[in-house]
Amino acid sequence: MDRLKTDILIVGGGVVGSSMALLAASNGFECGLVEQDTAAGGGPPAADPRVLALTLASQKILQFINAWQQLAPADLGRFERMHVWDENGKAQVRFDSADVNRSTLGYIVQQDALVKALEKARKFQPAVTGFTGVSPTSLSPDRKEVTLGLSDGRQVSAKLIIAADGARSKLRQLAGIDYDSRKYGQTAVASVVQTELPHERVARQRFLAKGPIAFLPMAEQDQCGVVWSTTPEQAAELLDMDETGFHALLQHVFDSRLGMIKHSGVRQSFPLQRAQARHYCADRLALVGDAAHCVHPLAGLGANLGLLDAASLLEVLCNARAGRRDIGGMTVLRKYERWRKGENFMVMMVLEGLKYLFENQTSPLPEFRNAGMGVFNSFHALKNFIIRRATGMEGDLPAIVKND
Ligand SMILES: Cc1cc2nc3c(=O)[nH]c(=O)nc-3n(C[C@H](O)[C@H](O)[C@H](O)COP(=O)(O)OP(=O)(O)OC[C@H]3O[C@@H](n4cnc5c(N)ncnc54)[C@H](O)[C@@H]3O)c2cc1C
Repeated sequence: MDRLKTDILIVGGGVVGSSMALLAASNGFECGLVEQDTAAGGGPPAADPRVLALTLASQKILQFINAWQQLAPADLGRFERMHVWDENGKAQVRFDSADVNRSTLGYIVQQDALVKALEKARKFQPAVTGFTGVSPTSLSPDRKEVTLGLSDGRQVSAKLIIAADGARSKLRQLAGIDYDSRKYGQTAVASVVQTELPHERVARQRFLAKGPIAFLPMAEQDQCGVVWSTTPEQAAELLDMDETGFHALLQHVFDSRLGMIKHSGVRQSFPLQRAQARHYCADRLALVGDAAHCVHPLAGLGANLGLLDAASLLEVLCNARAGRRDIGGMTVLRKYERWRKGENFMVMMVLEGLKYLFENQTSPLPEFRNAGMGVFNSFHALKNFIIRRATGMEGDLPAIVKND
């Protein structure tokens, strides 16, 4: 069998891998995209109830690759304000888009809808060749290229291979890169719900004793994506509950802020961890997205960080090509690693701090936490810094998302 050749081979056709392929192809690289799932575009299983909060930076990346344009208006919610409060007291943290002179703080999209939009965008991009229903079996880098063996017996060679195959990345394992992970002992339950009261484009999050619960405003005023992080035991109970019991409990723990819960869709659970790959690159290989790092969903940043990885890696590769350097060479890939590993680590630590502050139940922290929220809310410079980070407008950003 002939060995297939391409410039860049990407493993994993989720949000980050598909975006990486489209970014690279839009910049003149020939790409292969390997996805184990045979469903169109790969990605998570059908009817994934996860909704993603996307930053303004992610919007720019997705616009650049013509995927944003493929989202139907009914798939696209947006939020102008964020309210965060704690179950122990009355203090709240409020963020308003006006504080950062924007009309929008971010967008809410169902993960499935985004994967489908990326799939549609690929139809306009002939430079991406799909290898679906297959998985990597071997990885052999040499001086000039790297060859990937696929589960159907084919072999594909490229100058560079990119692992975008998620937290349990097979490619990362084949490359022998460790993944330093810390389990949170929490599981998130996700569902899309219909509420009695309109969300008014506010993203709301309440910190409960066992973890945060968020209602994220979707396109329809009475629809929200719910992400409830809790103990694995309670998550199992939530999945087993009948609708009436689930709705009553949701309404109760969410302070009835959006009135009654009138309807809910599929419920699915996701064990949570914080993780970072020991290295973001190896011989002719780079890691992006969850294959490189995993964060708690409390700030809705995982996919956003992955999209920034993809855009940053592309910039490094384009610069290397312009300087006639090898895009799979270690000097080039280390540049990407230094750039993104530091940025992602900083975000992880900020999230860890917020998680600890808002969740620690040991006395006297609950009182401190409540007082802390009040102080934090009136500390405008810090609030603005955090909101600019959370919207993806702050940090060492790749050129395609730099502020206009
Ligand atoms: C409950 C919850 C809520 C979240 N909310 C947000 C949010 O609001 N905002 C946000 O930015 N992020 C959020 N995230 C995080 C976000 O979902 C992930 O960061 C994002 O999906 C990672 O994308 P990825 O493409 O890197 O990996 P994945 O989505 O895991 O995709 C990996 C792809 O690789 C394929 N694959 C895997 N193994 C192989 C193999 N061996 N061979 C071939 N293909 C393979 C898979 O089929 C899949 O298509 C949330 C996560 C959870 C759990």
